[in-house]
Amino acid sequence: MKLVIGLTGGIGSGKTTVANMFAAYGINIVDMDVIAHAIVEPGQPALQEIVSAFGAEVLGRDGSLNRQHLRKLVFADPAKRKQLEGILHPRIRAEARHQVDKATSPYCMMVIPLLFETGQNDLIQRILVVDTTPDLQLQRTMQRDNANREDVEKIIRVQVDRNARLAGADDIIENLGDEAALLAGVEALHQKYLSLAER
Ligand code: ADP
Repeated sequence: MKLVIGLTGGIGSGKTTVANMFAAYGINIVDMDVIAHAIVEPGQPALQEIVSAFGAEVLGRDGSLNRQHLRKLVFADPAKRKQLEGILHPRIRAEARHQVDKATSPYCMMVIPLLFETGQNDLIQRILVVDTTPDLQLQRTMQRDNANREDVEKIIRVQVDRNARLAGADDIIENLGDEAALLAGVEALHQKYLSLAER
């Protein structure tokens, strides 16, 4: 079985940055967020199912999914949210598995932002947590998304907290310094994963 590392961490912790560094070493990246977007592109069966379930009002003028509207529809309605998850989750998981099967690197990295919130542990063998302080998360996310403090704080608050993430980690990469320091951490883990993959 192929070694699959699950990469997770809070919003703005540095998951994408870390994944890009592994990719630069030739490691295949399977990104759950990318897949979640791709499966609801116009023409995809999941989009058809969403329209059947929630009505054409979830489509924008150009026929693409109006995520904001859909989010509003399911937000206050657990049954609808369940229905939506029933459409999306099996397809996301199937596509993730498919991408792992296609991967040619010695091991691969699956980016699962909400790993601890949603539990997809069966797809991976090890958990790598990108760790940083809530303060840095806040600063970096505000800057990246041009977002205001309250909105980002709200997201950080509803996510699993730092200690819970660290407690669930097999490996931890600290993202407290500059990108050069981060890259040194990635390099060390890459060597470790290469030797694990050889076994
Ligand atoms: P995530 O994918 O976990 O939400 P990102 O990788 O997008 O986080 O990082 C959030 C923002 O912080 C991005 O704009 C990224 O370029 C920046 N960033 C991440 N790590 C560092 C670092 N060590 N030094 C400076 N900027 C960083």
